[in-house]
Amino acid sequence: MGKIIKISGPVVVADNMLGSTMYELVYVGELGLIGEIIELRGDKATIQVYEETAGLSPGEPVKNTGAPLSVELAPGLLGSIYDGIQRPLEIIKKKKGDFIARGVRAEGLDHSKKWDFKPKLKKGDEVSGGEILGVVQETSSVEHRVLVPPNVSGKIKKIESGKFTIDDVIAIVSDGSKEHKVSMLQKWPVRKERPFKQKLLANVPLVTGQRVIDALFPLVKGGTASVPGPFGSGKTVIQHQLAKWSDAKIVIFIGCGERGNEMTEVLTEFPELEDPQTGKPLMHRTVLIANTSDMPVAAREASIYTGITIAEYYRDMGYDVSLMADSTSRWAEALREISGRLQEMPSEEGYPAYLASRLAAFYERAGRVNALSGKTGSLSLIGAVSPPGGDFSEPVTQNTLRITKVFWALSATLAHRRHFPAIDWLQSYSLYTDNLTEWYKQNISEEFLKLRTEALSILQREAELEEIVRLVGAESLPPKDKLLLDVARMLREDFLHQNAFDKVDTYTSLKKQYLMLRLILHYYYEVLDLVKAGIPYEEMYNSKTIENIGNSKMVAEKELQKFDEFERQLKKDVAKIKEART
Ligand code: ADP
Repeated sequence: MGKIIKISGPVVVADNMLGSTMYELVYVGELGLIGEIIELRGDKATIQVYEETAGLSPGEPVKNTGAPLSVELAPGLLGSIYDGIQRPLEIIKKKKGDFIARGVRAEGLDHSKKWDFKPKLKKGDEVSGGEILGVVQETSSVEHRVLVPPNVSGKIKKIESGKFTIDDVIAIVSDGSKEHKVSMLQKWPVRKERPFKQKLLANVPLVTGQRVIDALFPLVKGGTASVPGPFGSGKTVIQHQLAKWSDAKIVIFIGCGERGNEMTEVLTEFPELEDPQTGKPLMHRTVLIANTSDMPVAAREASIYTGITIAEYYRDMGYDVSLMADSTSRWAEALREISGRLQEMPSEEGYPAYLASRLAAFYERAGRVNALSGKTGSLSLIGAVSPPGGDFSEPVTQNTLRITKVFWALSATLAHRRHFPAIDWLQSYSLYTDNLTEWYKQNISEEFLKLRTEALSILQREAELEEIVRLVGAESLPPKDKLLLDVARMLREDFLHQNAFDKVDTYTSLKKQYLMLRLILHYYYEVLDLVKAGIPYEEMYNSKTIENIGNSKMVAEKELQKFDEFERQLKKDVAKIKEART
């Protein structure tokens, strides 16, 4: 039993701690606050405490647990709302009114609930770690695949179907020398990545149904993205859209709130979201992890690891998982605070020198993998950053940008202009488009990437021309530039602008995105031919085609054949102008 000798905010130093290990979970003080050892020197241990340390005093005991900070993994995770150390928020709040009670040991999962387990294997089968033993219908939306613990392999001596709690033995696996009793519950240390067979090339898009993302700045399954969210830029709406519409089966949302009501919003809004695929609550395939502003900063770090470990667990079942962390800046600020308390040598803007490597280690846990179960699963990470004053040059944003491969630059300016989603096409990027070439070719069209590149270059050219227009007016531009400005406006208003609250517009399949883009750009090419031939094209403004482009968002997914009509109409309209000329 150790003894507290110093308390500095969330950091506690204890002596008499010989035999402790790094990242061991300890109980601090009379209340038994939960903490993790982050430094060992001689018999002194430095502990970051995940609960409020006020009232703690030197001399109080510190108790070792002999185990690292771990999460419980079993059916029952989905639909849960946890704090950073996997305590159900409901339970810890209940114990002390609306405030977080301290020293509360609340299990992450219900250990008394019985689940209907259906074996997929039988007695005599050989199994190895990570294989699927059987299934449990965890929620209406998700079948939980019960996995053999990663370190167990051998021959199944017994396996039973029936109703079991997560602690009950559902199978016995013998490796010749030892019999392993397997239950549905696995405990996994949060700082340790869960094993898989092999990382796969990330060459399948994570389709979000949001046009600016899928068409211009796509993310892949198993990819990483960062998104800054200046206040009022539509970050919440984007997060909800991604959670609802992405073709990821499981959603893990980690929230670190700074301002008091930020997390309250998440905690009230998320549980109300409906899953558009099933009409059931989205929580049926979601786990929420929340750090409210009344929780100590150290818990933010734990929440990041708790979240990603749960995410990996579902990936191992062969699911596509998307994890959103909002915001990683708050986590970084916690690292800075703790580092300061440890009196470490500060680096840029007071952040510790290991900021970059911590962020990298987090994002490296993303990926599309061949899981031990033999199934393919993926874990995509979307990290929000909240640079103070929107200054992207600060260390957290810079380091994040260096690591993540997609950047969706949410812009307050666009939001003020009511252009939603307010993702700035001039600043954003995706480094995955090359990986996706083959997939688009097989599944959408070879033309898709070409259209995308053209659309982006038209938008960039528009930005350059705007300068000239400001100086000398649009009238002085040559016809081909006027056309380009028209087309850029179409791209912005008729393609990129997407209303999250409209039943049809809220989601656009990739196929439809392609058809929409194709119509606008074919218009561009056709009319450009007229311009090059010196034919005035003003009549096009009143054509049916312009109307069709304007309405293309509203074409139902079931009626995509309409786009063929639109293309024919375009040819007709152009032919008419040419004819009138000859
Ligand atoms: P933030 O979380 O960045 O403060 P919100 O996501 O709450 O901002 O968005 C602010 C407002 O912007 C919303 O209430 C909504 O009216 C509008 N908005 C944001 N995104 C969209 C969208 N995709 N479609 C329509 N309106 C949007």
